Amino acid sequence: MSKFRLPKYETPPLPQSLCPVSGKNQYASEEEALRAAKYREKNGSVSLGAYKCIDCFCWHLTSK
Ligand SMILES: [Zn+2]
Repeated sequence: MSKFRLPKYETPPLPQSLCPVSGKNQYASEEEALRAAKYREKNGSVSLGAYKCIDCFCWHLTSK
């Protein structure tokens, strides 16, 4: 019997919910937002940045 190892998949953090003002995904911290940004950059080669929303006090992603 050979041992089969599953590759580690990088999964993006799940957004908490949507911002009532901007309608964007909310992330609890800058770290969470940047992790999601990295994941999306890998798949779509878009450069994303994170910023703190003044309306909902959560973090959102924005294209640079
Ligand atoms: Zn917001």
